[in-house]
Amino acid sequence: MSDNDTIFGKIIRGELPADIVYEDEYCIAFRDINPVAPMHVLVIPREPIARLAEAGEEHRELLGHLMLAAARVAEQEGHGDAFRVVVNSGARAGQTVFHLHLHVIAGRTLSWPPG
Ligand code: 5GP
Repeated sequence: MSDNDTIFGKIIRGELPADIVYEDEYCIAFRDINPVAPMHVLVIPREPIARLAEAGEEHRELLGHLMLAAARVAEQEGHGDAFRVVVNSGARAGQTVFHLHLHVIAGRTLSWPPG
C-alpha cells in the first residue's frame, strides 16, 4: 500500500467527500468526521508524508506552512483567540491515519495534559 492509499489521500484526490474549509497549493483543511470539540479541523499536506517522524529537513518549509495554515483556519472559524494544534505520530500516540495531519481543536475549554 502506498502512502497515498489512505482515506486522506482519497480526500485530496477528490475520491472521498470532505467538508473542506481551506486549501492552497501545499495543503488542505477539512472538518474531522468525528469531532472532539465544536471546531475540529484536520490540516494535511498534499504531499503524503506518513507521519511527523518521517518528515525531514526538506519538509522544513512545508511544516511551517502547515502550522500557519492551522492558525489561519482557527482564525477563520472564529477561534483565533484559543485553539489547540495536535499531531499524533505513531500508533501508540494515537495515530490512526498514516498521512500526516494537524488536528486543530477549539470551541470548548481544553484540559491538560491530554490522555
Ligand atoms: P489520528 O487518530 O490519526 O491522529 O486522527 C485521524 C482523524 O481522522 C480522526 O480524528 C478521525 O475522526 C478522522 N477521520 C477518519 N476518517 C475520516 C474521514 O473519512 N473523513 C474525515 N473528515 N475525517 C476522518
